[in-house]
Amino acid sequence: MSSSSSSTSSPVPNRRIPLPPPDAEIYHATCRFCNVGCGYDIFVFPVYKEGGPAKGQNAIVYNLNDQVFNRDLTNFQADYTSPVIPLGANYGTPWIGEGMVTRTVKYNTQTGAWEPVYILEVPSSECPVNEGTYSTRGGRNAQRNWSPFSDVASGYAIYQSRIQTPMLRWNNSFQPISWSYAIQVAATVSKYYLDNENFNYPDPVGPAAIQVMAIRSDHGGGQGGGVFSNMAPGLFLHMGLATPFVRFHYQVAFSLTEDALMEATNGNGTDTASMLDISIADTLVLWGINEYSTSTVNFIQHMFDNISGATASRKAQWFDQANLHHLGIL
Ligand code: SF4
Repeated sequence: MSSSSSSTSSPVPNRRIPLPPPDAEIYHATCRFCNVGCGYDIFVFPVYKEGGPAKGQNAIVYNLNDQVFNRDLTNFQADYTSPVIPLGANYGTPWIGEGMVTRTVKYNTQTGAWEPVYILEVPSSECPVNEGTYSTRGGRNAQRNWSPFSDVASGYAIYQSRIQTPMLRWNNSFQPISWSYAIQVAATVSKYYLDNENFNYPDPVGPAAIQVMAIRSDHGGGQGGGVFSNMAPGLFLHMGLATPFVRFHYQVAFSLTEDALMEATNGNGTDTASMLDISIADTLVLWGINEYSTSTVNFIQHMFDNISGATASRKAQWFDQANLHHLGIL
C-alpha cells in the first residue's frame, strides 16, 4: 500500500517500555471493544517519572484472592528484571507491549500547565474474565487516547503510525485531508449513488443506494455498546442510504439490543455470560457470529481451556467426580 510522505516511515522497534512508578495514577476499566469485558488497569504518570523493573519499584501490584477461579494474587508485586515467561500474565506479571502505551499530555492542576504523560492500558491479571490476556483489539486500547505526538508508543523510538487527519486515496496514494473536505467528499459520493444508482423501495423507505457496500465496525465497549457508539453512522447507512449491503461485524442487528438487555438483566447489559460456566460446561453451542473474531478472549481463554482439558480440576470442583470419570473427562 502506498501512502503519502506524512504517513509513511520505517517502523523502528522500541527498545523498552516505560513502567509506571508506584505512585502512578491507577484506573480500572473494561476494554472498549467487545462484550467479553476484559479488565484493564490504566496507569498515568509524567514521562520524567518512570518506575523500575524490580518488585516494589513499579505499580504493577495485585491483591486479589479469586476463590472461584482459584487464583491467589494477594500482595503480588510484578518483577521485570528478567524476561516475562509465556502466559506470565496468568501468574501476575503481564507482558506490556508498545501498543499498550501512549504518550500524550495531561493538565496539571497544581502547576497550571500541560505536561507530557504516559498512559499504559494493561490487561489486568486480576480480572477473572481475561486473567491478563487480551486480543489484538484490546491490546491497543491505549492508542485510542488522543495525542498531539506523532509517535504512538513510548517515545524512545519514533514511528509515525498515528493518523492525525482523515486520509483520501488519490492518484494511488493516501493524502491527508481536512475533516470538512472528508465530509464533503463522503456526502457528494453518497448523494450521487442515492440519486443515480438506486432501487426504489415502497414507502416509508424510498430510494436506496444499493451500490453502496459498507462494513460497520460495531464494537464499542465492555458493555457491548457498539450500537450506541455507532448510532450516527448506523442510522446513515441503514436508514439514510438504506443500502441492504451492510456487513455487520459484531451486533446481530442494528437495534437497541443493549437497552433491552440492560432492562432484562438489571443493568448488566450483554455481559451476562458466565466465564466460569463456559470454562466447565460439557456442551458449548455457538451460532451467528464468529466467536474468535468478535469475542476473542472468551474463545481462546475459557472455551479453549475447557476443550483442551485445562479446566478438568475446576470441573471436578463443580460436578460430581464419579460422573466425570464416567464421561472420560477425569
Ligand atoms: S476479547 Fe479483546 S476486544 Fe473483547 S473485551 Fe477482551 S481484549 Fe477487548
